[in-house]
Amino acid sequence: MADFDYDLFVIGGGSGGVRCARIAAGHGARVGIAEEARWGGTCVNVGCVPKKIMVQASEYGRLAEDSRGFGWDASPGVHDWASLIAHKDREILRLNGIYTRMLDGSGVTRHEARAVFTGPHALEVGGRTVTAERIVIATGGLPAIQPPIEGMHLGIMSDDAFELPALPRRVVMVGGGYIGMEFAGIFHGLGAEVDVVYRQPLPLRGFDHDLREALAQGVAEQGIRLHPSQTVHRVEAAGDARRVTLSNGHVIEADLVFFAVGRVPKTAGLGLEEAGVATDSRGAVVVDARNVTSQPHIFALGDVSNKLNLTPVAIAEGHHLADRLFGPGQPRTWALDPVATAVFSNPPLATVGLTEEQAVQHGAMDIYIAQFTPMRHVMSGRARKTMMKMIVDQASQRVMGVHMLGDDVAEMMQGIGVALVAGATKQDFDRTIGIHPTSAEEFVTMRTVTRVAPAAQASRAAE
Ligand code: NDP
Repeated sequence: MADFDYDLFVIGGGSGGVRCARIAAGHGARVGIAEEARWGGTCVNVGCVPKKIMVQASEYGRLAEDSRGFGWDASPGVHDWASLIAHKDREILRLNGIYTRMLDGSGVTRHEARAVFTGPHALEVGGRTVTAERIVIATGGLPAIQPPIEGMHLGIMSDDAFELPALPRRVVMVGGGYIGMEFAGIFHGLGAEVDVVYRQPLPLRGFDHDLREALAQGVAEQGIRLHPSQTVHRVEAAGDARRVTLSNGHVIEADLVFFAVGRVPKTAGLGLEEAGVATDSRGAVVVDARNVTSQPHIFALGDVSNKLNLTPVAIAEGHHLADRLFGPGQPRTWALDPVATAVFSNPPLATVGLTEEQAVQHGAMDIYIAQFTPMRHVMSGRARKTMMKMIVDQASQRVMGVHMLGDDVAEMMQGIGVALVAGATKQDFDRTIGIHPTSAEEFVTMRTVTRVAPAAQASRAAE
């Protein structure tokens, strides 16, 4: 048997790679890991964590305004951007330290360097050759603009958004996906004027249609200007400002143009061809359901394999893989379908399971929808409705999808996710006693079918 330096080498110190390395080392494997930038990867450094901090920062002005409806004499005051960034940086540094301590504590050898394949079992890591019996690719992704847009160098992408020297006064957000809708809410909440340009009639393609409509309405009510069915034709400099011309000829002047038009897998320059690892047309590492690449001893997990690009999914994949390769018993299993997810827009939304459009492919659905002004906003006077939607399979009464827009929705949807993973039926929701007074209780008190969604033609034909 060949003598390798490591039993397992992980490329990429983000959420998925670190979890895989730690768990494998805990099972007794000799594990090395390489990270060329900061420990914790996208989520910790330029993703979920700093984004959530900024979302929370953006809420206080609104809360101060809303408090007047409850008798407080409060006003938002002046926001100090530099102070927010300094506090955020301190927290990220703390988390970087936790990641390195967790790795060191579990006996993983850390390499603070870029790793590049030089053969199926060999890598060049910081100028020296390292060999491993098994290798995990967990390099994540990075923001990209494809195809190029004229003047795009005058804008920023999400990696830059966490280090801006000052809060821009006017922002043009390009893209109506997760990042576009989240940062639109952040900048607007902190006091900027925000225009969002997206090429679909509604933001968040792939989400439930009613939820997308409710989001567009809710976001517009908060004062964000929406430009649906538009792309950016060109960006030009006008002194320190930017002139953004849309496909319909409309021109918007802004201080910051933010491109949030998707991310690509980070595989360029990794030497994958030296290792015989196949990629698809988008550069993603091709894997099977068990994260195995075209080489049986090389694995890929998280965003680099471009499946469901969410941090908890990468963590689950990394943990499961380490258990499977090195663990003594059955690996812990995860339900990767359905996966609950939230968009921390303003207002936020969350979802688990199928959209109505997907569900009707399986048969006729009972659709329950509740739309109301929550108690807080009856008092605050803010135009901010909550929307809740449940999709129930008519034949089996199984709950196929739950979608919600409104305050606290991300916290709420995690529990609903457990119910759907457990296969809950509408009757299970009905016999659950509500918590009063909450918005969440609406999910267990929905009695009347709002409408019936007939099965889609294709599935009828197949019956
Ligand atoms: P998304 O894929 O979510 O959205 C990209 C947006 O850009 C879409 O509106 C897309 O339009 C648009 N777009 C793409 N290319 C162009 C183009 N050439 N011109 C104009 N518009 C374009 O990507 P994000 O960058 O927002 O986020 C990447 C991923 O990161 C997410 O999908 C998600 O998996 C993850 N993420 C998760 C978060 C969370 O869990 N809260 C937060 C942030 C990111 P169209 O729909 O027409 O393709």
